Amino acid sequence: MLDGYGREIDYLRISVTDKCNLRCIYCMPHDIDSVAMSEILTFEEITQIVSAAAALGIKKIKITGGEPLVRRDVCSLIKMIIETDGIEQVTLTTNGVLLFKYIDELKEAGIAGINVSIDTLFKERFKLLTGHDDIDEILKGIPAAVDAGIPLKLNTVSLDPGEPDRLKDASALIEYAGSLGIDIRFIELMPIGFGKDFPGIPHEVLIPLIADRYKGMVRDEAGHGNGPAVYYKIPGRKGSIGFISAMSNAFCDGCNRIRLTTKGYLKNCLCYDTGVDLRSTLRSGISCTERCEALKKAIQGAILCKPKSHCFAEKDNISEKDPMSRIGG
Ligand code: SAM
Ligand code: SF4
Repeated sequence: MLDGYGREIDYLRISVTDKCNLRCIYCMPHDIDSVAMSEILTFEEITQIVSAAAALGIKKIKITGGEPLVRRDVCSLIKMIIETDGIEQVTLTTNGVLLFKYIDELKEAGIAGINVSIDTLFKERFKLLTGHDDIDEILKGIPAAVDAGIPLKLNTVSLDPGEPDRLKDASALIEYAGSLGIDIRFIELMPIGFGKDFPGIPHEVLIPLIADRYKGMVRDEAGHGNGPAVYYKIPGRKGSIGFISAMSNAFCDGCNRIRLTTKGYLKNCLCYDTGVDLRSTLRSGISCTERCEALKKAIQGAILCKPKSHCFAEKDNISEKDPMSRIGG
């Protein structure tokens, strides 16, 4: 359906858990209180929401978190969502630690694509950025998923390690993605949760640095998925390089998404705490038919009130206080 500004909203991101097996410094740097299991939506509750959302025109779903692969039996949920009338595509974003273990199940469930978030290929720096040592597991999972025929992209947050290593992580990742023939996307760090306290490198700085390193880089106008990334190609290299620049190039005019938090709150913009609590509708004890109608009405209301644009540039106006791990990045 169209929102109040005429944008077609057809994409829902669902955070299936707030828990994670890494501690990325800009996302969940230390243990934070986890949401009690009784507060988290069950698979049945999530699919009821998906079904109501699909009736309103949601066609694409991203499973996220926290780390979605730590939620027990998540592949069954993926299958349930794929089987929902009106849903055309279910994809997943993961830190990759458990990817190798779940490749077959994910494939069997019918996953349409996976984004693996990885910010460095260097062991020491991985430990510094995530608090863990699991990089070998991730680097086992990525090529195995590519070999299994799952469309895969790498996502990397544009952190600023400062000189002289400003491009060290970025160029190693670009070359690694190129060797596998897959896309890599750089994501500008947003001032949400712990990301507020961390230095990122703006893309108006990063893109020229990369273009200088990889001569002949040109815009790639081919379609690459649901997101707002702007893509470039480097001559002789397979796969493209995308930039998701929420800060330096707000893309809110083309925003197509809403987000469901772990606790069943439907957010209509990443930046604000606006939206609607769907869990209370789900648990209100009304009949199945009434519930479906009430969910549709609530989702429609949240879509119609979707803010025009984010306000990341005016940090005091950001009303979202939850960390990214709970919202589902
Ligand atoms: N654990 C999974 C993963 O890492 O892909 C899914 C959840 S994670 C919150 C989703 C994405 O959000 C990751 O790519 C992560 O790097 C990104 N992210 C987290 N905090 C961010 C921030 N403040 N700004 C931009 N991206 C952020
Ligand atoms: Fe976990 Fe993903 Fe957040 Fe890293 S970015 S702490 S992997 S939820």
